[in-house]
Amino acid sequence: MKIANNLEMLVLPMNVMGRERIVYPTLIWDNDFVILIDTGIPNNLETIKRQMEAAGVSFARLNAVIATQQDIDHVAGIKGILSEKPNVVVLAHEADKPYIQGDIKVKRLNPKFMERIKDLPEHEQLRIVDMFENSDVKVNTTLTDGEELPYCGGITVIHTPGHTPGHICLYHQSSKTLIAGDALNILHGELVGPNEDPMSEDGVNANDAINALNKLNNYDIENIITYHGGLFNDKPNEAIREVIRDRKFYSYLK
Ligand SMILES: [Zn+2]
Repeated sequence: MKIANNLEMLVLPMNVMGRERIVYPTLIWDNDFVILIDTGIPNNLETIKRQMEAAGVSFARLNAVIATQQDIDHVAGIKGILSEKPNVVVLAHEADKPYIQGDIKVKRLNPKFMERIKDLPEHEQLRIVDMFENSDVKVNTTLTDGEELPYCGGITVIHTPGHTPGHICLYHQSSKTLIAGDALNILHGELVGPNEDPMSEDGVNANDAINALNKLNNYDIENIITYHGGLFNDKPNEAIREVIRDRKFYSYLK
């Protein structure tokens, strides 16, 4: 779905944990560079290629993948991309790098998690475990808060720790689009914040997650792309201020 010139929101169906849902990676490009922000999981690759093609950007032109965070539904697709295009550069925040690289194993495959997947068909359980254990890729370049990437109309990195310690949002300057990852979500049409429970135990908590959103007030935002809820463009800056003021976590309306 076209959001602005040279910026496309991809729409990927994803079936994990026995549940059908949609995720929304973002593609940004100019004449020289093509950047994919978050990648879905391994079986999303063909859909990514098709949607890139439909947007007029061939997969062969892809230069870089930026991961907004370490979580598996954002990064598990990177390996498949690299197997076809080994020169694609992988960028992420320093604090999530060791998890994406597998230097620190995500403590997800614990008994509580296994209990949640135990009723799924065995091949599905194996697929999930395999994804958690074998999705690690090397992060070539780390990104820092406030860094400006001079590509594709200008991209500003905004460190928004909370959901994960190295979670980042990206602000696409020329289209005034915020790629929010999981720092923001949409629930019943309303903009809400991240999950109240942080994903990892690295000293970030729910308060940090909401406080980090204050940085977003420094940007004039026309569109927000949330990874799990898609596009939000109804007075985004005002809506972000309300998320902070009313501490609207993702669980707020559930
Ligand atoms: Zn996510």
